[in-house]
Amino acid sequence: MKFLLLVLLVLYNNALIRLLDSALAVDRLTPYTWESDAFRSLKLGKWLASQDTVDCEELASWMTESDFDLTDWRGSRFSLKLSSEHPAQFRKLAAAYRMLFEDLRYFPVPLSRSLDVPDVTYEDTWLQKRTYGGERGHEGCDLMGNKRPRGTYPVVSMTDGVVERVGWLEQGGWRIGIRSPSGVYFYYAHLSGYDREWQEGDPVRAGELLGYMGDSGYGKLEGTTGNFEVHLHVGIYLKTDHYEELSVNPYWLLRYLEKSRLSYWYE
Ligand SMILES: [Zn+2]
Repeated sequence: MKFLLLVLLVLYNNALIRLLDSALAVDRLTPYTWESDAFRSLKLGKWLASQDTVDCEELASWMTESDFDLTDWRGSRFSLKLSSEHPAQFRKLAAAYRMLFEDLRYFPVPLSRSLDVPDVTYEDTWLQKRTYGGERGHEGCDLMGNKRPRGTYPVVSMTDGVVERVGWLEQGGWRIGIRSPSGVYFYYAHLSGYDREWQEGDPVRAGELLGYMGDSGYGKLEGTTGNFEVHLHVGIYLKTDHYEELSVNPYWLLRYLEKSRLSYWYE
């Protein structure tokens, strides 16, 4: 009996703490929460990445309740209806998630139908130290080409959109940047080359071949290669109230897109 009472007390306390946590979290919501480091790290976690679709209002509620970290989330905790508590702030946060998810269609590197080609690998390296061009945090995610020569792995557009910038960048090498319909900027860097002579303003369809994975960049001279391993750097940038280009962590969005992969013949 005593044991049962103890269990009930613990459960009751947990629920109470959770409720208080949620209430405090809601009060911390501002119209600019989507510009915070916590939002930008996009810690969606495995459970969310495994879903076929994402309800962005739900996601905004869960994130707010969980201090923007769903890494250990199982998708079963109760959720407050935050939308009615602070409607304007909440709507803005949910809209930011919607912007990010709405246009996502394909994982940027198709699978090879040839068994000889190992699949790309990648880790969450958000804001890890990088030193070329001055010390900075890594604002993107690197899909590693696993020792295959430059030009092996195709790179396709994750979204529909329009080519906004294309050509050489000292840091990014041969890069292409695509603005999706909801306004998010998708940046693909270090290519070995392009599939065609893309021009700024060209329309792009999701899944369309952009170019090939390479190791270009990190050199003042146009066309510099070989300063690091062959990989694709994916960057995702939002235009917010205060920032023209605010990077967010692509890692979990890529994990989410693993379900939507094209497969190509390439070796
Ligand atoms: Zn990178």
